[in-house]
Amino acid sequence: MPETIFEKIDGGGELSIGEIAFLLGMEEKAGMEILFKKAYAVKLKNVGSKVYLRGLIELSNICEKNCYYCGIRKSNTLNKRYMMTEEEILKAAIWAYENRYGSIVLQSGERTDEAFINFIENIIRDIKKASSGKLGITLCLGEQEEETYRRWFNAGAHRYLLRIETSNRELYGKLHPADHSFDKRLKCLELIKKAGYQIGTGVMTGLPFQTLENLAEDILFFKKMDIDMIGMGPYIPHKDTPLAVEPFYPDFNKQYALELGLKMIAVTRIVLKDVNIAATTALQALNDKGREMGLMAGANVIMPNITDTKYRAAYQLYQNKPCLDENASLCRECIKKRIEDAGESIGYDEWGDSPHFRSRRNEKN
Ligand code: SAH
Ligand code: SF4
Repeated sequence: MPETIFEKIDGGGELSIGEIAFLLGMEEKAGMEILFKKAYAVKLKNVGSKVYLRGLIELSNICEKNCYYCGIRKSNTLNKRYMMTEEEILKAAIWAYENRYGSIVLQSGERTDEAFINFIENIIRDIKKASSGKLGITLCLGEQEEETYRRWFNAGAHRYLLRIETSNRELYGKLHPADHSFDKRLKCLELIKKAGYQIGTGVMTGLPFQTLENLAEDILFFKKMDIDMIGMGPYIPHKDTPLAVEPFYPDFNKQYALELGLKMIAVTRIVLKDVNIAATTALQALNDKGREMGLMAGANVIMPNITDTKYRAAYQLYQNKPCLDENASLCRECIKKRIEDAGESIGYDEWGDSPHFRSRRNEKN
């Protein structure tokens, strides 16, 4: 069975849901190695071997929502809440610019009040001004109104990441309180695209209740939604969240979670071909070399954390997040070495748009 699927991949044929689920379920080392090699070849052919860096700024852990899996959910009172100042954010962004990162990601808990919307709008303008328009800005600030997405786009942000978390409505319902709406999240993806952003989404892999078929459907969802960038990562339990209570938390198997995350990157690369795919920090939380493994399985983007270390412990979406005490400069050296050791090169000073976005834009013009 795997041989016929591998032959189909070599011939460029379209994989069915069953075939995708089969690949995601492979547990033998030899089969997984072949899968990763094939995905790497598809990556080289479609996006090349350059790795693009996005400096990640986790600007606040204040959140209005209560996702059952997340360590900074509103009801987790054990968290000390913080909000970086405009100056601190600007300083981090300028650091990224001077270190030739090409672009940054502004991420935070979800807030929809006018003060926050204004704050973000101003900081986007400030960052654009300070970098003479050169530093690319990706936002990862959750569900917002159409008008807000537009305001932030007009201020200068050009990419937006909003993970659908799972494309299965029923599973979404099990992971969120009743007032969190799958339809609203879906609608937001459309609004983001309509506002003109390059659009990114993704899911968590290895969630409780999630099946391999669910994950296969997630990949076909990315394709159907014509997504430009994918940010996926293993779900990692956080002890102070409802989802991490028994029986799931003690059963968490790091190796299985890592391999499933890598297989998901590989199959997504094979099916979607020319999109950007991030090797996310959650992979590194499971294995010190997790992100490099992600690059070898088909990812081409890394998001080094450049948040001031004094805030990092308070931004733990999941437990054992790596690099909690490593400042941005140390992080830069470590990432450079890791990427070069993996035989790849860094796309310094480049926005690194996905070829998929470029062809989508050209089709529109
Ligand atoms: N509040 C925004 C952005 C910050 S959260 C939003 O939710 O869109 C960014 C991502 O962290 C989420 O999309 C989710 O996929 C991920 N995340 C949250 N808790 C996690 C956990 N326990 N394990 C792995 N990833 C998690
Ligand atoms: Fe808030 Fe995002 Fe965490 Fe949900 S995943 S609780 S929206 S920070």
